Amino acid sequence: MSQFYNPDRRNDWNYGGKNWKLSRSKIDLFLECPRCFYIDNKLGTKRPPGYPFNLNSAVDALLKKEFDVHRVEGSKHPIMEEYGIEAVPFEHANMGTWRENFEGVQYKHDATGMTVSGAVDDVWVNQSGELIVVDYKSTSKDEKIDKLDADWHIGYKRQMEVYQWLLRQNGFKVSNTGYFVYANASIDEKAFDGKLIFDVTLIPYEGDDSWVEPTLLEIKACLEDSRVPKAGEDCDYCAYREAVGKKLLSNKREQTTALAPTPKAVKKDTLF
Ligand code: SF4
Repeated sequence: MSQFYNPDRRNDWNYGGKNWKLSRSKIDLFLECPRCFYIDNKLGTKRPPGYPFNLNSAVDALLKKEFDVHRVEGSKHPIMEEYGIEAVPFEHANMGTWRENFEGVQYKHDATGMTVSGAVDDVWVNQSGELIVVDYKSTSKDEKIDKLDADWHIGYKRQMEVYQWLLRQNGFKVSNTGYFVYANASIDEKAFDGKLIFDVTLIPYEGDDSWVEPTLLEIKACLEDSRVPKAGEDCDYCAYREAVGKKLLSNKREQTTALAPTPKAVKKDTLF
Protein backbone atom coordinates (compact mmCIF):
# COMPACT_ATOMS: atom_id res chain seq x y z
CA MET A 1 0.00 0.00 0.00
CA SER A 2 1.46 3.39 -0.95
CA GLN A 3 1.77 6.31 1.47
CA PHE A 4 -1.00 8.07 -0.52
CA TYR A 5 -3.68 5.47 0.08
CA ASN A 6 -5.47 4.83 3.33
CA PRO A 7 -8.50 2.66 2.52
CA ASP A 8 -10.32 3.22 5.83
CA ARG A 9 -12.23 6.44 6.31
CA ARG A 10 -13.05 7.72 9.80
CA ASN A 11 -16.66 7.05 10.84
CA ASP A 12 -17.42 10.79 11.05
CA TRP A 13 -17.02 10.99 7.29
CA ASN A 14 -19.12 7.91 6.45
CA TYR A 15 -22.89 7.84 5.92
CA GLY A 16 -24.51 8.62 9.28
CA GLY A 17 -21.42 10.53 10.50
CA LYS A 18 -21.58 14.25 11.26
CA ASN A 19 -19.33 15.26 8.32
CA TRP A 20 -20.93 13.10 5.65
CA LYS A 21 -22.43 14.93 2.66
CA LEU A 22 -23.61 13.68 -0.69
CA SER A 23 -21.29 15.42 -3.13
CA ARG A 24 -21.97 15.49 -6.83
CA SER A 25 -19.02 13.11 -7.40
CA LYS A 26 -20.62 10.61 -4.98
CA ILE A 27 -23.87 10.85 -6.97
CA ASP A 28 -21.82 10.05 -10.07
CA LEU A 29 -20.17 7.10 -8.33
CA PHE A 30 -23.61 5.75 -7.37
CA LEU A 31 -24.75 5.94 -10.99
CA GLU A 32 -21.53 4.30 -12.17
CA CYS A 33 -21.56 1.45 -9.62
CA PRO A 34 -23.91 1.30 -6.60
CA ARG A 35 -21.69 -1.37 -5.06
CA CYS A 36 -18.57 0.81 -5.01
CA PHE A 37 -20.68 3.72 -3.74
CA TYR A 38 -22.02 1.58 -0.87
CA ILE A 39 -18.61 0.15 0.06
CA ASP A 40 -17.17 3.66 0.05
CA ASN A 41 -19.91 5.64 1.81
CA LYS A 42 -21.51 3.08 4.11
CA LEU A 43 -18.72 0.61 4.82
CA GLY A 44 -16.05 3.33 4.73
CA THR A 45 -13.55 1.69 2.36
CA LYS A 46 -12.36 4.13 -0.27
CA ARG A 47 -11.30 3.29 -3.78
CA PRO A 48 -7.61 4.04 -4.43
CA PRO A 49 -7.41 7.62 -5.76
CA GLY A 50 -6.15 8.48 -9.24
CA TYR A 51 -3.16 10.74 -9.76
CA PRO A 52 -3.87 14.46 -9.18
CA PHE A 53 -4.36 16.46 -12.38
CA ASN A 54 -2.10 19.37 -11.44
CA LEU A 55 -1.96 20.95 -14.90
CA ASN A 56 -5.77 20.95 -15.14
CA SER A 57 -6.00 22.50 -11.68
CA ALA A 58 -3.56 25.22 -12.77
CA VAL A 59 -5.74 26.04 -15.80
CA ASP A 60 -8.85 26.16 -13.55
CA ALA A 61 -7.13 28.50 -11.09
CA LEU A 62 -5.99 30.87 -13.86
CA LEU A 63 -9.39 30.90 -15.56
CA LYS A 64 -10.98 31.72 -12.20
CA LYS A 65 -8.62 34.68 -11.77
CA GLU A 66 -9.39 35.88 -15.29
CA PHE A 67 -13.17 35.74 -14.82
CA ASP A 68 -12.87 37.30 -11.37
CA VAL A 69 -11.43 40.49 -12.89
CA HIS A 70 -14.63 40.82 -14.93
CA ARG A 71 -16.77 39.86 -11.92
CA VAL A 72 -15.41 42.84 -10.00
CA GLU A 73 -15.86 45.16 -13.00
CA GLY A 74 -19.30 43.76 -13.89
CA SER A 75 -18.02 43.37 -17.47
CA LYS A 76 -18.02 40.64 -20.09
CA HIS A 77 -14.99 38.38 -20.47
CA PRO A 78 -13.67 38.42 -24.09
CA ILE A 79 -14.93 34.86 -24.66
CA MET A 80 -18.47 36.05 -23.85
CA GLU A 81 -18.03 38.81 -26.44
CA GLU A 82 -16.66 36.33 -28.99
CA TYR A 83 -19.63 33.98 -28.58
CA GLY A 84 -22.25 36.74 -28.21
CA ILE A 85 -23.25 35.73 -24.66
CA GLU A 86 -25.35 38.41 -22.97
CA ALA A 87 -24.11 37.78 -19.44
CA VAL A 88 -21.44 38.76 -16.91
CA PRO A 89 -19.75 36.77 -14.12
CA PHE A 90 -22.12 36.66 -11.13
CA GLU A 91 -21.09 38.64 -8.05
CA HIS A 92 -22.38 37.10 -4.81
CA ALA A 93 -21.18 36.95 -1.21
CA ASN A 94 -21.20 33.13 -1.30
CA MET A 95 -19.22 32.78 -4.49
CA GLY A 96 -16.03 31.81 -2.61
CA THR A 97 -17.85 29.09 -0.61
CA TRP A 98 -19.64 27.80 -3.69
CA ARG A 99 -16.27 27.21 -5.36
CA GLU A 100 -14.62 25.61 -2.32
CA ASN A 101 -14.08 21.82 -2.35
CA PHE A 102 -15.73 20.18 0.69
CA GLU A 103 -18.10 23.20 0.86
CA GLY A 104 -19.70 24.15 -2.47
CA VAL A 105 -23.35 24.96 -3.05
CA GLN A 106 -25.27 22.96 -0.45
CA TYR A 107 -28.86 21.94 0.10
CA LYS A 108 -30.49 19.81 2.79
CA HIS A 109 -32.94 17.61 0.90
CA ASP A 110 -36.10 17.23 3.01
CA ALA A 111 -37.35 13.91 1.62
CA THR A 112 -34.10 12.06 2.43
CA GLY A 113 -32.50 14.26 5.09
CA MET A 114 -29.26 14.18 3.05
CA THR A 115 -27.16 17.30 2.49
CA VAL A 116 -26.24 17.50 -1.19
CA SER A 117 -23.23 19.56 -2.26
CA GLY A 118 -21.22 20.52 -5.32
CA ALA A 119 -18.38 23.00 -5.88
CA VAL A 120 -18.93 25.06 -9.04
CA ASP A 121 -16.17 26.54 -11.20
CA ASP A 122 -18.14 29.65 -12.08
CA VAL A 123 -21.59 31.20 -12.23
CA TRP A 124 -22.64 33.92 -14.68
CA VAL A 125 -25.84 35.93 -14.73
CA ASN A 126 -27.81 36.89 -17.85
CA GLN A 127 -29.90 39.99 -18.49
CA SER A 128 -33.09 38.34 -17.16
CA GLY A 129 -31.38 37.67 -13.82
CA GLU A 130 -31.05 33.92 -14.49
CA LEU A 131 -27.90 32.21 -13.24
CA ILE A 132 -25.77 30.31 -15.73
CA VAL A 133 -23.65 27.40 -14.48
CA VAL A 134 -20.17 27.32 -16.02
CA ASP A 135 -17.60 24.56 -15.83
CA TYR A 136 -13.95 24.84 -16.88
CA LYS A 137 -12.32 21.89 -18.63
CA SER A 138 -8.85 21.43 -20.03
CA THR A 139 -7.19 18.81 -22.19
CA SER A 140 -4.93 18.41 -25.22
CA LYS A 141 -6.46 17.05 -28.41
CA ASP A 142 -5.72 17.41 -32.12
CA GLU A 143 -9.23 18.45 -33.10
CA LYS A 144 -11.08 21.63 -32.13
CA ILE A 145 -13.36 20.95 -29.16
CA ASP A 146 -16.79 22.36 -29.93
CA LYS A 147 -19.16 19.62 -28.80
CA LEU A 148 -19.53 17.02 -26.04
CA ASP A 149 -20.84 13.97 -27.85
CA ALA A 150 -18.72 11.10 -26.51
CA ASP A 151 -20.43 8.56 -24.20
CA TRP A 152 -18.11 9.42 -21.32
CA HIS A 153 -19.18 13.10 -21.48
CA ILE A 154 -22.33 12.05 -19.59
CA GLY A 155 -20.37 12.66 -16.36
CA TYR A 156 -19.75 16.31 -17.35
CA LYS A 157 -23.41 16.80 -18.21
CA ARG A 158 -24.64 15.27 -14.95
CA GLN A 159 -22.16 17.44 -13.08
CA MET A 160 -23.67 20.58 -14.60
CA GLU A 161 -27.23 19.39 -13.95
CA VAL A 162 -26.48 18.76 -10.26
CA TYR A 163 -25.12 22.32 -9.93
CA GLN A 164 -28.20 23.72 -11.69
CA TRP A 165 -30.44 21.71 -9.34
CA LEU A 166 -28.51 22.86 -6.27
CA LEU A 167 -28.74 26.55 -7.18
CA ARG A 168 -32.48 26.18 -7.89
CA GLN A 169 -33.00 24.56 -4.46
CA ASN A 170 -31.21 27.60 -2.99
CA GLY A 171 -33.95 29.81 -4.46
CA PHE A 172 -32.17 31.12 -7.57
CA LYS A 173 -33.65 31.34 -11.05
CA VAL A 174 -31.31 29.19 -13.17
CA SER A 175 -31.05 28.97 -16.93
CA ASN A 176 -31.19 25.46 -18.46
CA THR A 177 -28.31 26.55 -20.66
CA GLY A 178 -24.92 26.10 -19.03
CA TYR A 179 -21.47 26.48 -20.61
CA PHE A 180 -18.23 24.55 -20.65
CA VAL A 181 -15.16 26.75 -21.08
CA TYR A 182 -12.81 24.28 -22.79
CA ALA A 183 -9.06 24.97 -22.90
CA ASN A 184 -7.28 22.75 -25.42
CA ALA A 185 -3.45 22.74 -25.30
CA SER A 186 -1.85 22.73 -28.74
CA ILE A 187 1.01 20.36 -29.56
CA ASP A 188 1.25 21.93 -33.00
CA GLU A 189 3.96 24.40 -31.95
CA LYS A 190 7.64 24.64 -32.93
CA ALA A 191 8.84 24.26 -29.35
CA PHE A 192 7.66 24.15 -25.78
CA ASP A 193 9.54 27.35 -24.73
CA GLY A 194 8.25 26.95 -21.19
CA LYS A 195 4.60 27.52 -22.09
CA LEU A 196 1.54 25.78 -23.41
CA ILE A 197 -0.67 27.52 -25.97
CA PHE A 198 -4.38 26.89 -25.48
CA ASP A 199 -7.31 27.20 -27.85
CA VAL A 200 -10.29 28.15 -25.66
CA THR A 201 -13.81 27.32 -26.84
CA LEU A 202 -17.22 27.80 -25.26
CA ILE A 203 -19.65 24.89 -25.50
CA PRO A 204 -23.30 25.41 -24.54
CA TYR A 205 -25.26 22.59 -22.91
CA GLU A 206 -29.02 22.38 -22.26
CA GLY A 207 -29.33 20.76 -18.85
CA ASP A 208 -32.25 18.71 -17.55
CA ASP A 209 -32.08 18.12 -13.80
CA SER A 210 -35.29 16.01 -13.61
CA TRP A 211 -33.25 12.86 -12.85
CA VAL A 212 -31.71 14.32 -9.66
CA GLU A 213 -34.72 14.05 -7.33
CA PRO A 214 -35.55 10.35 -8.08
CA THR A 215 -31.85 9.47 -7.93
CA LEU A 216 -31.58 10.94 -4.43
CA LEU A 217 -34.43 8.65 -3.32
CA GLU A 218 -32.63 5.65 -4.84
CA ILE A 219 -29.40 6.63 -3.09
CA LYS A 220 -31.17 6.90 0.25
CA ALA A 221 -32.79 3.47 -0.22
CA CYS A 222 -29.39 2.00 -1.14
CA LEU A 223 -27.68 3.46 1.93
CA GLU A 224 -30.46 2.29 4.28
CA ASP A 225 -30.32 -1.28 2.93
CA SER A 226 -28.19 -3.80 4.82
CA ARG A 227 -27.46 -5.69 1.59
CA VAL A 228 -24.45 -4.73 -0.53
CA PRO A 229 -25.71 -3.89 -4.05
CA LYS A 230 -24.59 -5.67 -7.21
CA ALA A 231 -21.54 -4.40 -9.09
CA GLY A 232 -21.97 -2.12 -12.12
CA GLU A 233 -21.61 -3.74 -15.54
CA ASP A 234 -18.81 -1.60 -16.90
CA CYS A 235 -16.14 -2.18 -14.28
CA ASP A 236 -14.00 -5.35 -14.28
CA TYR A 237 -12.29 -4.85 -10.93
CA CYS A 238 -14.71 -6.86 -8.78
CA ALA A 239 -14.47 -9.80 -11.20
CA TYR A 240 -10.67 -9.40 -11.04
CA ARG A 241 -10.68 -9.19 -7.22
CA GLU A 242 -12.88 -12.29 -6.93
CA ALA A 243 -10.70 -14.26 -9.35
CA VAL A 244 -7.56 -13.26 -7.42
CA GLY A 245 -9.24 -14.10 -4.10
CA LYS A 246 -10.14 -17.62 -5.32
CA LYS A 247 -6.59 -18.22 -6.59
CA LEU A 248 -5.03 -17.06 -3.32
CA LEU A 249 -7.44 -19.17 -1.29
CA SER A 250 -6.75 -22.30 -3.29
CA ASN A 251 -2.99 -21.56 -3.13
CA LYS A 252 -3.21 -21.24 0.65
CA ARG A 253 -5.15 -24.51 0.91
CA GLU A 254 -2.53 -26.32 -1.19
CA GLN A 255 0.26 -24.97 0.99
CA THR A 256 -1.57 -25.92 4.18
CA THR A 257 -2.11 -29.44 2.82
CA ALA A 258 1.56 -29.72 1.83
CA LEU A 259 2.70 -28.65 5.31
CA ALA A 260 0.25 -30.81 7.25
CA PRO A 261 1.92 -33.87 8.78
CA THR A 262 0.94 -37.21 7.16
CA PRO A 263 -0.56 -39.88 9.50
CA LYS A 264 2.70 -41.87 9.08
CA ALA A 265 4.82 -38.88 10.11
CA VAL A 266 2.56 -38.30 13.07
CA LYS A 267 3.07 -41.90 14.11
CA LYS A 268 6.82 -41.50 13.70
CA ASP A 269 6.79 -38.26 15.68
CA THR A 270 4.95 -39.87 18.51
CA LEU A 271 7.76 -42.45 18.85
CA PHE A 272 10.14 -39.76 20.15
S1 SF4 B 1 -17.37 -3.42 -10.05
FE1 SF4 B 1 -15.79 -1.85 -9.96
S2 SF4 B 1 -16.81 -0.02 -9.43
FE2 SF4 B 1 -18.13 -1.70 -8.86
S3 SF4 B 1 -17.68 -2.28 -6.74
FE3 SF4 B 1 -16.40 -3.49 -8.04
S4 SF4 B 1 -14.54 -2.31 -8.18
FE4 SF4 B 1 -16.10 -0.90 -7.53
